[in-house]
Amino acid sequence: MPGYYLGIDVGSTASKCVIIDEDKTIVASAVIPVGTGTTGPARAFAASLEEAGIREEDLACITATGYGRNTFEKADMTVSELSAHALGVHTLYPEAKTVIDIGGQDAKAIRIGKNGRLENFIMNDKCAAGTGRFLEVMARILELDVSDLGSMDTAAEGTVAISSTCTVFAESEVISQLARGVDIKSLVRGIDESVAVRTAGLVKRLGVIDPVIMTGGVAGNAGVVTALEYELGTEITVSSIAQLNGAFGAAVYGLQKTEQ
Ligand code: ADP
Repeated sequence: MPGYYLGIDVGSTASKCVIIDEDKTIVASAVIPVGTGTTGPARAFAASLEEAGIREEDLACITATGYGRNTFEKADMTVSELSAHALGVHTLYPEAKTVIDIGGQDAKAIRIGKNGRLENFIMNDKCAAGTGRFLEVMARILELDVSDLGSMDTAAEGTVAISSTCTVFAESEVISQLARGVDIKSLVRGIDESVAVRTAGLVKRLGVIDPVIMTGGVAGNAGVVTALEYELGTEITVSSIAQLNGAFGAAVYGLQKTEQ
């Protein structure tokens, strides 16, 4: 029986699991939209095992990453989210130099060093502005699903700029724009641009070196990605496993450590 390696990303907002084989090929994955401190990690773990058609005993190594990585008791080892994202992106995109990861509660700009090692990073984990949380708050006011924001943005003809940088003030600003009857799509573009401007600030401090790959749940929002490309003046490739990249990187880390 071939060896299987499981990576679990116990995030602030979502739980992600990836199982790879010895060739680093993904054989199963799961995303449960609730994170640390919930049933999400256990459900993601069970769902990925079921999809792979294997049992827990068939796993050669379980590696946890993410905000709540130390709470996952089944883990054989842990790795920081920053290292997991760098290694995950390097494995799929060996030329990549910069990772932009926007999750539910933080945003990170990561420089990938030799062999996929973490070389440097800049992170915002203090403020909801510029994270998935900001987008979730705004989607709720607009009675939209967060996954609808990207397509609304790309269909917008204009932009209603959001001037407040604080999520709470920006929320009031969006409500008053709604009361004025502004075009919703243009408002969504303004919201997405606000996240992009905040994130671009982090990436510029790190230094933009191509190729740039984007990961994390917010990479699913095409409006944020396009606005970030504009702010940074460079092309961004959205990882084919954007939200799963941290879990994938953790699985690859477990494989490498086992082989060593
Ligand atoms: P964490 O690791 O902090 O839990 P994730 O990388 O899993 O974060 O991303 C979670 C965030 O991604 C949430 O804020 C969620 O709203 C957002 N998200 C998930 N899917 C999409 C999508 N299709 N479009 C836009 N945002 C999304």
